[in-house]
Amino acid sequence: MNVLAVFAHPDDETMLFGGALALLAAQGAAVYGLSATRGEGGEAGEPPVCERHELGAVRQEELACAVQALGMAGLTYLDYVDPTVGPGDELYPFQAEWDILVQQIAAHIRKVAAQAVITHGSNGEYGHPAHQLVHRATRAAVESLQDAQLLLYSAQANYPDHPKPHLINKDDPAHFLLDASPVLERKVAAAMCHRTQHALFVRRASQRAGRPLSVPEVIAAWESLHRHLPPATSVPLHDPLVDLLRSSGSVHEPDPAWQLDKNS
Ligand SMILES: [Zn+2]
Repeated sequence: MNVLAVFAHPDDETMLFGGALALLAAQGAAVYGLSATRGEGGEAGEPPVCERHELGAVRQEELACAVQALGMAGLTYLDYVDPTVGPGDELYPFQAEWDILVQQIAAHIRKVAAQAVITHGSNGEYGHPAHQLVHRATRAAVESLQDAQLLLYSAQANYPDHPKPHLINKDDPAHFLLDASPVLERKVAAAMCHRTQHALFVRRASQRAGRPLSVPEVIAAWESLHRHLPPATSVPLHDPLVDLLRSSGSVHEPDPAWQLDKNS
């Protein structure tokens, strides 16, 4: 099957759903990426890996490296400009004409003949406005294609005892959990590609642990997915994407009582 991952910045593909992408690729899916920006407004590393004006070009190289590590089949940019993070770490969406953004994503879904799309969650994971914008636009793009078979998923879905509660989409209950340990080396290798982001990747976990953690130590082996479209009416879910993942033995069901309650 063909799968398209739509995301706001380089590194989102790895940190939010890199295990799912690598597992799908390992199961024979053609997995394409569509990045809205080059992440030129983000961090450059500690110490900086490059000059500020070089960041977009450097992160483009980092993403090319990660795409290869995850076993993806291709990558395209929408060429939006990622605004620089503001004072107090304030985050901004990129500037885009809504109708054009939706059309661009829809056109790319068609171009790669995607049967499933994976993107950011309803809450933009940690509330990032660019992630929320990509979620909404990707959903609108999928709806505009009026294809009842086309699947829309997001990652970092909510379930009890999620190991990184600051990264969950609280409004997206998990339809299944994914044990990415069979491809964890690939996910770690992809994270290692994003050198400018290493300080960011480990900062929060290191503060919590009271010692500096390495990048491999903070890469999650478990991921969780929510299907937005078509709406899930019963669990366990069956569709071409989850069944392909199921055939790798990596799919686990969350507590059914909790899940039915959240989905009703
Ligand atoms: Zn991002």
